[in-house]
Amino acid sequence: MTLSPTTLPREPVLILGAGLMGRLLAWQLTVQGHAVDIRDAGSPDGNTSAARVAAAMLAPLAEAAVTEPNVVAMGQYALPRWRELIAQLPEPVYFQQQGTLILWHRQDTGEALRFAGLLGATQRALPTLPAPENVHGQRLAELEPAVANRFHQGIYLPEEGQLDNRQLLHALLKALERHGTQVQWNTPCTLDQALDWQTRHGGWVLDCRGLGSQPDWTLPGPTLRGVRGEVVRLHAPDVTLQRPTRLLHPRYPIYIAPKQNHIFVMGATEIETDDLSPVSVRSALELLSAAYAVHPGFGEARILELNTQCRPTLPDNLPAVRQPAPQVLQINGLYRHGFMISPAVLDAVIEHMHSGTQTLADRLQLCFNTQQPSAVV
Ligand SMILES: Cc1cc2nc3c(=O)[nH]c(=O)nc-3n(C[C@H](O)[C@H](O)[C@H](O)COP(=O)(O)OP(=O)(O)OC[C@H]3O[C@@H](n4cnc5c(N)ncnc54)[C@H](O)[C@@H]3O)c2cc1C
Repeated sequence: MTLSPTTLPREPVLILGAGLMGRLLAWQLTVQGHAVDIRDAGSPDGNTSAARVAAAMLAPLAEAAVTEPNVVAMGQYALPRWRELIAQLPEPVYFQQQGTLILWHRQDTGEALRFAGLLGATQRALPTLPAPENVHGQRLAELEPAVANRFHQGIYLPEEGQLDNRQLLHALLKALERHGTQVQWNTPCTLDQALDWQTRHGGWVLDCRGLGSQPDWTLPGPTLRGVRGEVVRLHAPDVTLQRPTRLLHPRYPIYIAPKQNHIFVMGATEIETDDLSPVSVRSALELLSAAYAVHPGFGEARILELNTQCRPTLPDNLPAVRQPAPQVLQINGLYRHGFMISPAVLDAVIEHMHSGTQTLADRLQLCFNTQQPSAVV
Protein backbone atom coordinates (compact mmCIF):
# COMPACT_ATOMS: atom_id res chain seq x y z
CA MET A 1 0.00 0.00 0.00
CA THR A 2 1.50 3.38 -0.94
CA LEU A 3 0.25 6.67 0.44
CA SER A 4 0.82 9.94 -1.31
CA PRO A 5 3.01 12.29 0.79
CA THR A 6 1.22 15.35 -0.56
CA THR A 7 -2.23 14.42 0.69
CA LEU A 8 -1.25 13.64 4.26
CA PRO A 9 -1.56 15.66 7.41
CA ARG A 10 1.85 16.30 8.95
CA GLU A 11 1.25 16.26 12.63
CA PRO A 12 4.27 15.66 14.86
CA VAL A 13 4.71 12.14 16.18
CA LEU A 14 6.48 10.87 19.31
CA ILE A 15 7.51 7.22 19.10
CA LEU A 16 8.49 5.34 22.24
CA GLY A 17 10.79 2.45 21.40
CA ALA A 18 13.12 2.08 18.41
CA GLY A 19 13.06 -1.69 18.07
CA LEU A 20 11.36 -3.27 15.08
CA MET A 21 7.95 -1.55 15.09
CA GLY A 22 9.25 1.82 16.28
CA ARG A 23 11.95 2.06 13.62
CA LEU A 24 9.63 0.97 10.81
CA LEU A 25 6.93 3.46 11.79
CA ALA A 26 9.44 6.28 12.35
CA TRP A 27 10.92 5.75 8.90
CA GLN A 28 7.65 5.54 6.98
CA LEU A 29 6.07 8.48 8.84
CA THR A 30 9.19 10.58 8.26
CA VAL A 31 9.09 9.75 4.55
CA GLN A 32 5.45 10.82 4.53
CA GLY A 33 6.25 14.24 5.93
CA HIS A 34 5.80 13.97 9.71
CA ALA A 35 8.29 15.41 12.16
CA VAL A 36 9.15 12.35 14.25
CA ASP A 37 10.69 12.36 17.72
CA ILE A 38 11.94 8.95 18.96
CA ARG A 39 13.06 7.78 22.41
CA ASP A 40 14.61 4.41 23.14
CA ALA A 41 15.79 2.86 26.38
CA GLY A 42 18.74 1.15 24.70
CA SER A 43 21.47 1.81 22.16
CA PRO A 44 21.45 2.10 18.35
CA ASP A 45 22.42 -1.56 17.83
CA GLY A 46 19.08 -2.55 19.40
CA ASN A 47 20.71 -4.23 22.41
CA THR A 48 17.47 -4.03 24.40
CA SER A 49 15.10 -5.12 21.63
CA ALA A 50 13.73 -8.53 20.75
CA ALA A 51 14.37 -7.47 17.15
CA ARG A 52 18.16 -7.76 17.50
CA VAL A 53 18.10 -11.34 18.77
CA ALA A 54 15.37 -12.70 16.46
CA ALA A 55 15.98 -15.12 13.60
CA ALA A 56 13.73 -12.94 11.40
CA MET A 57 12.12 -15.77 9.50
CA LEU A 58 9.10 -14.78 7.43
CA ALA A 59 7.33 -18.11 7.52
CA PRO A 60 3.55 -17.73 7.68
CA LEU A 61 2.62 -21.30 6.84
CA ALA A 62 5.32 -22.89 9.00
CA GLU A 63 3.97 -20.79 11.87
CA ALA A 64 0.45 -22.11 11.24
CA ALA A 65 1.41 -24.85 13.69
CA VAL A 66 1.51 -22.33 16.54
CA THR A 67 -0.72 -19.45 15.51
CA GLU A 68 -4.10 -18.42 14.13
CA PRO A 69 -5.06 -18.01 10.45
CA ASN A 70 -5.25 -14.20 10.81
CA VAL A 71 -1.55 -14.04 11.76
CA VAL A 72 -0.75 -16.34 8.83
CA ALA A 73 -2.73 -13.96 6.58
CA MET A 74 -0.77 -10.95 7.94
CA GLY A 75 2.44 -12.86 7.17
CA GLN A 76 1.27 -13.57 3.64
CA TYR A 77 0.43 -9.87 3.14
CA ALA A 78 3.85 -8.87 4.50
CA LEU A 79 6.12 -10.91 2.20
CA PRO A 80 5.73 -8.74 -0.95
CA ARG A 81 5.60 -5.61 1.25
CA TRP A 82 9.02 -6.48 2.71
CA ARG A 83 10.44 -6.66 -0.79
CA GLU A 84 9.09 -3.15 -1.54
CA LEU A 85 10.20 -1.69 1.77
CA ILE A 86 13.72 -3.12 1.61
CA ALA A 87 14.14 -1.80 -1.94
CA GLN A 88 13.58 1.74 -0.58
CA LEU A 89 16.22 1.51 2.15
CA PRO A 90 19.56 3.25 1.65
CA GLU A 91 21.66 0.23 2.68
CA PRO A 92 21.39 -3.41 1.59
CA VAL A 93 19.35 -5.84 3.69
CA TYR A 94 19.69 -9.55 2.98
CA PHE A 95 16.22 -10.84 2.06
CA GLN A 96 15.57 -14.33 0.78
CA GLN A 97 12.39 -16.03 -0.36
CA GLN A 98 13.38 -19.61 -1.12
CA GLY A 99 10.87 -21.36 1.09
CA THR A 100 11.13 -23.29 4.35
CA LEU A 101 12.14 -26.94 4.67
CA ILE A 102 10.57 -29.04 7.44
CA LEU A 103 12.42 -32.19 8.52
CA TRP A 104 11.96 -34.89 11.15
CA HIS A 105 13.58 -38.09 12.25
CA ARG A 106 11.78 -41.32 11.47
CA GLN A 107 10.83 -41.86 15.12
CA ASP A 108 9.06 -38.46 15.12
CA THR A 109 6.69 -39.26 12.27
CA GLY A 110 3.79 -38.62 14.66
CA GLU A 111 4.95 -34.99 14.99
CA ALA A 112 5.10 -34.71 11.20
CA LEU A 113 1.56 -36.02 10.82
CA ARG A 114 0.32 -33.55 13.44
CA PHE A 115 2.15 -30.70 11.68
CA ALA A 116 0.76 -31.72 8.27
CA GLY A 117 -2.75 -31.74 9.77
CA LEU A 118 -2.31 -28.16 11.02
CA LEU A 119 -0.99 -27.07 7.62
CA GLY A 120 -4.02 -28.64 5.96
CA ALA A 121 -6.45 -26.82 8.27
CA THR A 122 -4.72 -23.47 7.63
CA GLN A 123 -4.69 -24.15 3.90
CA ARG A 124 -8.44 -24.72 3.96
CA ALA A 125 -8.96 -21.45 5.90
CA LEU A 126 -6.65 -19.51 3.55
CA PRO A 127 -6.82 -21.16 0.10
CA THR A 128 -4.54 -18.54 -1.50
CA LEU A 129 -1.53 -19.82 0.45
CA PRO A 130 1.03 -21.64 -1.67
CA ALA A 131 0.53 -25.39 -1.29
CA PRO A 132 3.03 -27.36 0.83
CA GLU A 133 4.97 -30.00 -1.07
CA ASN A 134 5.90 -33.40 0.36
CA VAL A 135 9.49 -34.03 -0.72
CA HIS A 136 11.42 -37.30 -0.84
CA GLY A 137 14.70 -38.65 -2.19
CA GLN A 138 15.78 -36.84 -5.33
CA ARG A 139 13.57 -33.78 -4.81
CA LEU A 140 14.88 -33.34 -1.26
CA ALA A 141 18.44 -33.70 -2.57
CA GLU A 142 17.78 -31.01 -5.20
CA LEU A 143 16.46 -28.61 -2.58
CA GLU A 144 19.02 -29.17 0.17
CA PRO A 145 21.77 -31.61 -0.85
CA ALA A 146 23.41 -31.08 2.55
CA VAL A 147 20.70 -32.98 4.43
CA ALA A 148 19.64 -35.57 1.85
CA ASN A 149 21.73 -38.42 3.24
CA ARG A 150 20.38 -37.95 6.77
CA PHE A 151 16.72 -37.35 6.02
CA HIS A 152 14.58 -39.18 3.53
CA GLN A 153 11.51 -36.98 3.50
CA GLY A 154 10.36 -33.53 4.39
CA ILE A 155 7.78 -30.84 3.70
CA TYR A 156 8.71 -27.88 1.56
CA LEU A 157 6.80 -24.62 2.06
CA PRO A 158 7.44 -22.52 -1.05
CA GLU A 159 7.75 -18.71 -1.06
CA GLU A 160 8.48 -18.34 2.63
CA GLY A 161 11.30 -15.97 3.43
CA GLN A 162 13.73 -14.50 5.90
CA LEU A 163 15.78 -11.34 6.24
CA ASP A 164 18.84 -10.18 8.14
CA ASN A 165 17.41 -8.45 11.21
CA ARG A 166 20.59 -6.63 12.19
CA GLN A 167 21.13 -5.26 8.69
CA LEU A 168 17.49 -4.14 8.72
CA LEU A 169 17.80 -2.31 12.06
CA HIS A 170 20.96 -0.62 10.80
CA ALA A 171 19.46 0.33 7.42
CA LEU A 172 16.36 1.80 9.09
CA LEU A 173 18.59 4.00 11.24
CA LYS A 174 20.54 5.16 8.20
CA ALA A 175 17.25 5.99 6.45
CA LEU A 176 16.16 8.06 9.45
CA GLU A 177 19.51 9.85 9.57
CA ARG A 178 19.19 10.75 5.89
CA HIS A 179 15.94 12.52 6.75
CA GLY A 180 17.62 14.30 9.66
CA THR A 181 15.57 12.30 12.21
CA GLN A 182 17.54 11.48 15.34
CA VAL A 183 16.72 8.94 18.03
CA GLN A 184 17.33 9.83 21.68
CA TRP A 185 19.09 6.68 22.88
CA ASN A 186 19.37 5.50 26.48
CA THR A 187 16.24 7.52 27.23
CA PRO A 188 13.55 5.33 28.80
CA CYS A 189 10.17 7.00 28.65
CA THR A 190 6.80 6.35 30.31
CA LEU A 191 3.38 6.79 28.74
CA ASP A 192 2.71 9.66 31.17
CA GLN A 193 5.81 11.47 29.91
CA ALA A 194 4.63 10.89 26.36
CA LEU A 195 1.22 12.38 27.18
CA ASP A 196 2.99 15.47 28.60
CA TRP A 197 4.86 15.74 25.29
CA GLN A 198 1.54 15.49 23.42
CA THR A 199 0.03 18.26 25.57
CA ARG A 200 2.92 20.53 24.58
CA HIS A 201 3.31 19.55 20.91
CA GLY A 202 -0.03 18.09 19.83
CA GLY A 203 0.15 15.27 17.28
CA TRP A 204 0.41 11.54 17.87
CA VAL A 205 2.07 9.24 20.38
CA LEU A 206 2.96 5.70 19.26
CA ASP A 207 3.97 3.31 22.03
CA CYS A 208 6.23 0.66 20.46
CA ARG A 209 8.18 -0.33 23.57
CA GLY A 210 7.54 -4.06 23.25
CA LEU A 211 7.92 -5.63 26.66
CA GLY A 212 8.93 -2.19 28.01
CA SER A 213 5.24 -1.21 27.79
CA GLN A 214 4.33 -3.69 30.53
CA PRO A 215 3.68 -1.05 33.25
CA ASP A 216 1.30 0.83 30.93
CA TRP A 217 -0.58 -2.21 29.63
CA THR A 218 -2.47 -3.10 32.79
CA LEU A 219 -6.21 -3.53 32.58
CA PRO A 220 -7.42 -5.12 34.79
CA GLY A 221 -4.11 -6.81 35.71
CA PRO A 222 -0.77 -7.23 33.96
CA THR A 223 -1.58 -8.64 30.56
CA LEU A 224 1.62 -8.22 28.59
CA ARG A 225 4.12 -10.96 29.32
CA GLY A 226 7.52 -12.07 28.10
CA VAL A 227 8.16 -15.40 26.42
CA ARG A 228 11.85 -16.12 26.73
CA GLY A 229 13.69 -17.20 23.61
CA GLU A 230 17.29 -18.40 23.59
CA VAL A 231 19.26 -18.49 20.35
CA VAL A 232 22.71 -19.46 19.13
CA ARG A 233 24.57 -17.62 16.38
CA LEU A 234 27.14 -19.80 14.63
CA HIS A 235 29.76 -19.48 11.92
CA ALA A 236 29.69 -22.79 10.08
CA PRO A 237 31.78 -22.76 6.86
CA ASP A 238 31.13 -26.51 6.31
CA VAL A 239 27.35 -26.13 6.30
CA THR A 240 25.64 -25.30 3.04
CA LEU A 241 21.96 -25.09 4.05
CA GLN A 242 20.35 -22.54 1.75
CA ARG A 243 17.02 -21.84 3.38
CA PRO A 244 15.43 -21.80 6.84
CA THR A 245 15.11 -25.39 8.00
CA ARG A 246 13.00 -26.64 10.89
CA LEU A 247 13.41 -29.88 12.73
CA LEU A 248 10.18 -31.24 14.18
CA HIS A 249 10.78 -32.85 17.53
CA PRO A 250 8.44 -33.52 20.47
CA ARG A 251 10.81 -31.90 22.97
CA TYR A 252 13.45 -29.90 21.06
CA PRO A 253 11.91 -28.41 17.94
CA ILE A 254 14.50 -26.11 16.38
CA TYR A 255 14.95 -23.91 13.37
CA ILE A 256 18.16 -23.02 11.57
CA ALA A 257 18.12 -19.76 9.63
CA PRO A 258 21.10 -19.36 7.28
CA LYS A 259 22.24 -15.75 6.89
CA GLN A 260 25.02 -14.55 4.57
CA ASN A 261 28.64 -15.75 4.83
CA HIS A 262 27.85 -19.06 6.56
CA ILE A 263 26.32 -17.40 9.59
CA PHE A 264 23.46 -19.43 11.07
CA VAL A 265 20.92 -18.33 13.66
CA MET A 266 19.50 -21.26 15.50
CA GLY A 267 16.73 -21.32 18.00
CA ALA A 268 14.72 -20.90 19.84
CA THR A 269 13.47 -21.93 23.21
CA GLU A 270 9.99 -20.84 24.22
CA ILE A 271 9.81 -20.42 27.98
CA GLU A 272 7.02 -18.64 29.90
CA THR A 273 9.08 -16.08 31.81
CA ASP A 274 10.38 -12.50 31.61
CA ASP A 275 13.83 -13.76 32.63
CA LEU A 276 16.49 -12.12 30.46
CA SER A 277 19.46 -13.87 32.08
CA PRO A 278 22.00 -15.63 29.82
CA VAL A 279 21.25 -18.89 27.98
CA SER A 280 21.07 -21.96 30.24
CA VAL A 281 23.41 -24.91 29.76
CA ARG A 282 20.42 -27.17 29.13
CA SER A 283 19.09 -24.95 26.34
CA ALA A 284 22.52 -24.59 24.74
CA LEU A 285 23.05 -28.36 24.82
CA GLU A 286 19.64 -29.09 23.34
CA LEU A 287 19.88 -26.49 20.58
CA LEU A 288 23.40 -27.46 19.58
CA SER A 289 22.73 -31.21 19.67
CA ALA A 290 19.64 -30.79 17.51
CA ALA A 291 21.62 -28.71 15.01
CA TYR A 292 24.38 -31.34 14.89
CA ALA A 293 21.71 -33.96 14.22
CA VAL A 294 20.53 -31.96 11.19
CA HIS A 295 24.04 -31.44 9.77
CA PRO A 296 27.35 -32.81 11.11
CA GLY A 297 29.13 -29.74 9.73
CA PHE A 298 27.83 -27.86 12.77
CA GLY A 299 30.31 -29.89 14.83
CA GLU A 300 33.16 -27.68 13.62
CA ALA A 301 31.15 -24.45 13.72
CA ARG A 302 32.26 -21.57 15.93
CA ILE A 303 29.81 -20.18 18.48
CA LEU A 304 29.62 -16.45 17.87
CA GLU A 305 26.88 -15.70 20.35
CA LEU A 306 24.50 -17.29 22.80
CA ASN A 307 21.72 -14.80 23.39
CA THR A 308 18.38 -14.34 25.14
CA GLN A 309 15.43 -12.01 24.64
CA CYS A 310 11.77 -12.08 25.55
CA ARG A 311 8.99 -11.88 23.01
CA PRO A 312 6.31 -9.31 23.93
CA THR A 313 3.14 -11.38 24.20
CA LEU A 314 -0.54 -10.75 25.00
CA PRO A 315 -2.82 -13.38 26.60
CA ASP A 316 -4.15 -14.66 23.25
CA ASN A 317 -0.64 -14.60 21.69
CA LEU A 318 -1.99 -12.25 19.01
CA PRO A 319 -0.86 -8.74 18.03
CA ALA A 320 -3.01 -5.76 19.00
CA VAL A 321 -3.26 -2.03 18.50
CA ARG A 322 -5.20 -0.04 21.04
CA GLN A 323 -5.92 3.61 21.62
CA PRO A 324 -5.88 4.47 25.34
CA ALA A 325 -6.31 8.23 24.69
CA PRO A 326 -6.99 10.38 21.63
CA GLN A 327 -4.18 10.09 19.07
CA VAL A 328 -2.24 7.67 21.27
CA LEU A 329 -1.70 4.18 19.87
CA GLN A 330 -0.14 1.25 21.66
CA ILE A 331 1.18 -1.36 19.23
CA ASN A 332 2.19 -4.59 20.88
CA GLY A 333 1.92 -8.35 21.25
CA LEU A 334 3.99 -9.16 18.19
CA TYR A 335 5.18 -12.27 20.07
CA ARG A 336 7.24 -14.54 17.80
CA HIS A 337 5.89 -12.99 14.60
CA GLY A 338 7.19 -9.41 14.63
CA PHE A 339 9.21 -9.66 11.43
CA MET A 340 6.65 -11.87 9.78
CA ILE A 341 3.75 -9.44 10.26
CA SER A 342 5.16 -5.96 10.93
CA PRO A 343 4.54 -4.56 7.41
CA ALA A 344 0.85 -5.40 7.87
CA VAL A 345 0.75 -3.69 11.27
CA LEU A 346 2.69 -0.73 9.87
CA ASP A 347 0.24 -0.18 7.01
CA ALA A 348 -2.81 -0.63 9.27
CA VAL A 349 -1.50 1.92 11.81
CA ILE A 350 -0.65 4.49 9.14
CA GLU A 351 -4.04 4.01 7.49
CA HIS A 352 -5.72 4.73 10.82
CA MET A 353 -3.54 7.77 11.52
CA HIS A 354 -4.16 9.29 8.13
CA SER A 355 -7.74 8.43 7.36
CA GLY A 356 -9.28 7.30 10.65
CA THR A 357 -10.24 3.98 9.03
CA GLN A 358 -9.26 0.38 9.71
CA THR A 359 -9.91 -1.28 6.37
CA LEU A 360 -6.68 -3.25 6.31
CA ALA A 361 -6.90 -4.19 10.00
CA ASP A 362 -10.44 -5.46 9.43
CA ARG A 363 -9.41 -7.40 6.33
CA LEU A 364 -6.54 -9.07 8.17
CA GLN A 365 -8.47 -9.37 11.45
CA LEU A 366 -5.81 -7.42 13.30
CA CYS A 367 -7.25 -6.47 16.70
CA PHE A 368 -7.51 -2.68 16.49
CA ASN A 369 -9.27 -1.30 19.53
CA THR A 370 -9.99 2.41 19.33
CA GLN A 371 -12.31 2.46 22.36
CA GLN A 372 -10.76 4.57 25.09
CA PRO A 373 -11.26 2.95 28.50
CA SER A 374 -10.38 5.70 30.98
CA ALA A 375 -8.70 3.25 33.32
CA VAL A 376 -6.07 2.28 30.75
CA VAL A 377 -3.81 5.30 31.17
C1 LIG B 1 14.59 -15.46 20.24
C2 LIG B 1 13.62 -14.74 19.33
C3 LIG B 1 13.45 -15.17 18.03
C4 LIG B 1 12.54 -14.53 17.21
N1 LIG B 1 12.42 -14.95 15.91
C5 LIG B 1 11.52 -14.36 15.09
C6 LIG B 1 11.37 -14.79 13.74
O1 LIG B 1 12.08 -15.69 13.28
N2 LIG B 1 10.43 -14.19 12.98
C7 LIG B 1 9.64 -13.19 13.46
O2 LIG B 1 8.79 -12.70 12.74
N3 LIG B 1 9.78 -12.74 14.73
C8 LIG B 1 10.69 -13.31 15.55
N4 LIG B 1 10.83 -12.87 16.83
C9 LIG B 1 9.89 -11.86 17.34
C10 LIG B 1 10.30 -10.42 17.07
O3 LIG B 1 11.64 -10.21 17.39
C11 LIG B 1 9.40 -9.51 17.92
O4 LIG B 1 8.05 -9.82 17.66
C12 LIG B 1 9.63 -8.05 17.57
O5 LIG B 1 10.97 -7.69 17.76
C13 LIG B 1 8.73 -7.16 18.45
O6 LIG B 1 8.91 -5.85 17.98
P1 LIG B 1 8.64 -4.60 18.92
O7 LIG B 1 9.08 -3.40 18.14
O8 LIG B 1 7.27 -4.67 19.46
O9 LIG B 1 9.62 -4.83 20.18
P2 LIG B 1 11.19 -4.80 20.24
O10 LIG B 1 11.80 -5.19 18.96
O11 LIG B 1 11.57 -5.57 21.46
O12 LIG B 1 11.54 -3.25 20.50
C14 LIG B 1 11.12 -2.58 21.67
C15 LIG B 1 12.01 -1.37 21.86
O13 LIG B 1 11.45 -0.57 22.90
C16 LIG B 1 12.50 -0.06 23.69
N5 LIG B 1 12.02 0.28 25.03
C17 LIG B 1 11.66 -0.57 26.02
N6 LIG B 1 11.26 0.13 27.10
C18 LIG B 1 11.35 1.44 26.78
C19 LIG B 1 11.06 2.65 27.46
N7 LIG B 1 10.59 2.67 28.71
N8 LIG B 1 11.26 3.83 26.81
C20 LIG B 1 11.75 3.84 25.52
N9 LIG B 1 12.05 2.70 24.84
C21 LIG B 1 11.84 1.54 25.45
C22 LIG B 1 13.55 -1.16 23.69
O14 LIG B 1 14.82 -0.62 24.00
C23 LIG B 1 13.44 -1.70 22.27
O15 LIG B 1 14.36 -1.06 21.40
C24 LIG B 1 11.76 -13.46 17.69
C25 LIG B 1 11.96 -13.00 18.99
C26 LIG B 1 12.87 -13.63 19.81
C27 LIG B 1 13.09 -13.12 21.20
